[in-house]
Amino acid sequence: EKVQEYLEKIEKSDINAYIHVNREKVLKEAENLEKNEKLKKKPLYGKIIAVKSNINIRGYLVSCASKTLENYISPYDATVIKKIKSQGGLIIGMTNMDEFACGSSGETSYYGPTNNPKAEGRIPGGSSSGSAAAVSADLCDMALGSDTGGSIRNPASHCGIVGFKPSYGVVSRQGLCDLAMSFDQIGPLTKNARDALLLTNIIKGKDISDSTTVDTPEFKVWNGEEMKNYRIGIVKEFMEVSDEKIRKRIEMGIEVFRDLNWKVVELNYKYRDLALPTYYLINYVEFFSATRRYDGRRYGYPIEEVCGEEVLRRIMIGKHISEKEFSGKYYKRALQARKIMKKEMLKLFKNVDAIVSPTVPKLPHKLGEKLTPMEMYAYDILTVPANLCGMCAGVVRCGDINGIPVGLQIMGKPFDDEKILNIMIQFE
Ligand code: GLN
Repeated sequence: EKVQEYLEKIEKSDINAYIHVNREKVLKEAENLEKNEKLKKKPLYGKIIAVKSNINIRGYLVSCASKTLENYISPYDATVIKKIKSQGGLIIGMTNMDEFACGSSGETSYYGPTNNPKAEGRIPGGSSSGSAAAVSADLCDMALGSDTGGSIRNPASHCGIVGFKPSYGVVSRQGLCDLAMSFDQIGPLTKNARDALLLTNIIKGKDISDSTTVDTPEFKVWNGEEMKNYRIGIVKEFMEVSDEKIRKRIEMGIEVFRDLNWKVVELNYKYRDLALPTYYLINYVEFFSATRRYDGRRYGYPIEEVCGEEVLRRIMIGKHISEKEFSGKYYKRALQARKIMKKEMLKLFKNVDAIVSPTVPKLPHKLGEKLTPMEMYAYDILTVPANLCGMCAGVVRCGDINGIPVGLQIMGKPFDDEKILNIMIQFE
């Protein structure tokens, strides 16, 4: 019945959150689930889950919201999907996104932009735009997204929901279409932080098909005792770069930690301005490499012939800067900068349990407003540090500004995922 209800709501909805829903398939799977006594005892039983269109699910259109793959029906399940199915979860459909996850607004999809269900006429954020909008508009229970430089956290913030990017290596990327493989992580978009913990706990784990994964102990909800006397860091440079209204909103949110008797301390991070150039140089090179398989021979169309402007920009620049004669000037320096940034960031975590900041320095713009690439990239300044340093980072709702949701970002050092998820639970 719940599935029926969601399907009807999706059909009536005009926010363009889904790209592919297969009604018959979902209903059949729901029927089978109901008959399966074993799955009834599993933690995800009864949960209806939407999935970003860059994660492979057998029998679904995994288009990455690009014309390049408009006829690619996946023949296999990604590791995270196998895990969800084995724990009783039901997949309801594939969500809209920026083309190949390149973007922060949800506007570069071949299938048209997604609307923000909480802020009419504005972007929902991206690139996991449809997953965030579907959760926010109650068109599913929870969703999966991917985060390379903020794509789970940015739309979670704009749509007023919870999002979590696990530390690099916690969740298998097998079956995820890469944007930049040294940054990409799959993670949950949910209605509350407990669900984010639940879903991360299901999808995580070492996977022989992804050599970067590690095993982590089961994530549990803590009772609060474990979190006594925590220290929360505020990075001055992260606050300064945000619009004043957002900064004020976040400062109000931080009071929650003081009320818990935690200490709030100010920190400095001198490499903030290295974040965007370093992230984008590495992103371009890795994305260029990842796109070489889309040559139109086995499936789809040759990518350069049909893709949108932003994807083409990245392919062309990625090709150029990875050429031997230029790599010393760009790519190798970016790798060096990344190392320095990580080292300095880990130093900050010697004194604090978590660092909090705004998620996006600006409010979401109106749909159709034209931004320059630089303006668009500037949205990512507070989210890319977590990807550059392999950290975990979550977003929880921190009120709104004239009805537009604002998300508070909570970052943790690599593999402190359980701790950060529990801090997120405390915040709610
Ligand atoms: N906006 C960033 C980019 O375009 C992040 C995208 C993502 O996390 N997938 O690269």
